[in-house]
Amino acid sequence: MAEVLVYVDHVDGAVRKPTLELLTLARRIGEPVAVALGNGAADTVAALAEHGAVKVLTDDASEYADYLVVPKVDALQAAVEAVSPAAVLVPSSAEGKEIAARLALRTGSGLITDAVDLEAGAEGPVATQSVFAASYTTKSQVTKGTPVITVKPNSAAVEAAPAAGAAEALSVTFSAQATGTKVTSRTPRESTGRPELTEAAIVVSGGRGVNGADNFALIEALADSLGAAVGASRAAVDAGWYPHTNQVGQTGKSVSPQLYIANGISGAIQHRAGMQTSKTIVAVNKDPEAPIFDLVDYGVVGDLFEVVPQLTEEVKTRKG
Ligand code: FAD
Repeated sequence: MAEVLVYVDHVDGAVRKPTLELLTLARRIGEPVAVALGNGAADTVAALAEHGAVKVLTDDASEYADYLVVPKVDALQAAVEAVSPAAVLVPSSAEGKEIAARLALRTGSGLITDAVDLEAGAEGPVATQSVFAASYTTKSQVTKGTPVITVKPNSAAVEAAPAAGAAEALSVTFSAQATGTKVTSRTPRESTGRPELTEAAIVVSGGRGVNGADNFALIEALADSLGAAVGASRAAVDAGWYPHTNQVGQTGKSVSPQLYIANGISGAIQHRAGMQTSKTIVAVNKDPEAPIFDLVDYGVVGDLFEVVPQLTEEVKTRKG
């Protein structure tokens, strides 16, 4: 069976959920071989094996933390040369997409970004993408080189699938460009205790209808009752009510959670572009003609200042 390389996104050995989702998809098209780089790389092996990695290639060189993405591209290129995989899967984060694009160029291969599903095809993996502000779904295949495919978080379930997970050291020779851009400092974002927006299973968002920064406390309370991340429309962000890091849409982040709850958001095409692939969409809006109602699974026509607190209380009551 063909091997499929999976780039591991981890923090000091703790594997992030989008990578485990990639392993689920990788198993559909071949045998997953994971590539874990940087500090704690060896600590990822048990989790990766538990989710289907037959092999884990590791390298904990300090260059991966000290410089921007090029050392990681060097390592993935070395892994491609060593394994000759059927495809390389990378999580669709900002860094993941940069790594994928550079790797595709290096290996003379085609690239597909932001896939939301993957299946085996007669001539290699077939990727599903949601395009033109999610108005169309397309299926595409790479016809040149080793397919490099980035996959959006929440595109597949995390599945336990115990495999050998044999750890092997990856031998990497860094290129001259690898040390071209040095990281001089890192400032971790202040933790809200909420899940990362692009990885969250549930996202609760607020728009212009929230009508002020302080009122976002209502949105946060609903999010916290559900263990969700908080999103915002551009109108809310431009008004200074919520940080840009939480903006959902064309010029913000793209999310694809199991559940997306839009509160006081009209559903402009640029907002839809960032959330339309959510599995279940709920909207609370006082205007029954709001375009958001064209795409919801459940719509509540009502004043969010009445509906949202009731919803929060109901969730808390049911959770006990
Ligand atoms: P509005 O469109 O003003 O809608 C507010 C909604 O709240 C209305 O439907 C109203 O009925 C409802 N409402 C008001 N009060 C209440 C209440 N008390 N209870 C319930 N409902 C209430 N937008 C994004 O979101 N993300 C992007 O990334 C993005 N990128 C863009 C890029 C470009 C190049 C451009 C041109 C625009 C972009 N936009 C983006 C902006 C987009 O076009 C819309 O202007 C924006 O999404 C509107 O935000 P909104 O729905 O919160 O506000």
